[in-house]
Amino acid sequence: MRKILVTGGAGYIGSHTCKLLALSGYEPVAYDNLSTGHREFVKWGPLVTGDLHDTARLTQTMLDHRPLAVIHFAASAYVGESVANPFKYYRNNVGGTLSLLEAMRNAGLRYLVFSSTCATYGIPETVPIHEKCTQRPINPYGQSKMMIEQILRDLSDRHEINQVCLRYFNAAGADRDGEIGEKHIPETHLIPLAIQSALGGPELKIFGTDFATPDGTAIRDYIHVEDLSRAHVLAVEYLLSGGASDCINLGTGHGNSVKEIVLSLEALGLPVKTCNAPRREGDPACLVADASRAKQQLNWVPRYLDIRDTLATAIAWHKNQG
Ligand code: UDP
Repeated sequence: MRKILVTGGAGYIGSHTCKLLALSGYEPVAYDNLSTGHREFVKWGPLVTGDLHDTARLTQTMLDHRPLAVIHFAASAYVGESVANPFKYYRNNVGGTLSLLEAMRNAGLRYLVFSSTCATYGIPETVPIHEKCTQRPINPYGQSKMMIEQILRDLSDRHEINQVCLRYFNAAGADRDGEIGEKHIPETHLIPLAIQSALGGPELKIFGTDFATPDGTAIRDYIHVEDLSRAHVLAVEYLLSGGASDCINLGTGHGNSVKEIVLSLEALGLPVKTCNAPRREGDPACLVADASRAKQQLNWVPRYLDIRDTLATAIAWHKNQG
């Protein structure tokens, strides 16, 4: 069986990618410490419960399963928390990745797909954001991911590894079969909070109504989690077929403001209770991807282009959670 090791395979994007790997003829081996991941999200292959810092366990897992490649999702990923506790982010993200790289070296593995982020761009110089835009992260989360990209570039320049860094914009939506979805504890993301509010939860705070955007609220590029997953499978195949190391944006190329998300949910029958609140620290006005490189290098184009289709999958998932 062609196996792929998936760190963070019990998480949101990780579990969707495991499902697609299985549907594409691979066996995903999830490696997760379950600190934020969910055991019940691991359905398409074995789960190895372990920490990224445990290099010996990682090495043994690689020797036991002999994966063709590693997809590395496991990370701390709350921007606000990273500002309050930067050490955690450098330790888990940078330190954890170094441990993974050491294990890969021990086990003789060289192909790595890394989960990076548009947060590495900070306040972008130009929108849509191209991979060549200067990376100037404005919080420790983005900084930690940019440091990892640099480490991976240095190693691939020395031909020690081959890697693809995928810089995601805003992951959204859920598995169309309703088997898995977005479940963060605590939840801080716009779409799940807006849906929860419409389903009887607290009012949604709109963080900032004075941005330099047409309706004053911040614009993001919401990319469906299944589209993200497909890009990971394509990136693995790109590396296995000899593709050169690269950094690639993943987004739809189209932005929606916070108010547009709220209006779209209303149009889908979910009126959201909202109130205005001050801007959240470190939130840029507008982040939209230029995703042309993904098409060029991976032959990837997003299939979910209408935000309402993405929102509909998220709504179905949340309603099912009861
Ligand atoms: N946002 C908001 N209210 C919330 C959560 C988020 O207005 O309760 C806004 C946030 O300021 C940003 C957008 O929604 O402009 C997307 O935020 P999210 O946390 O989902 O993702 P991020 O862009 O931070 O990765």
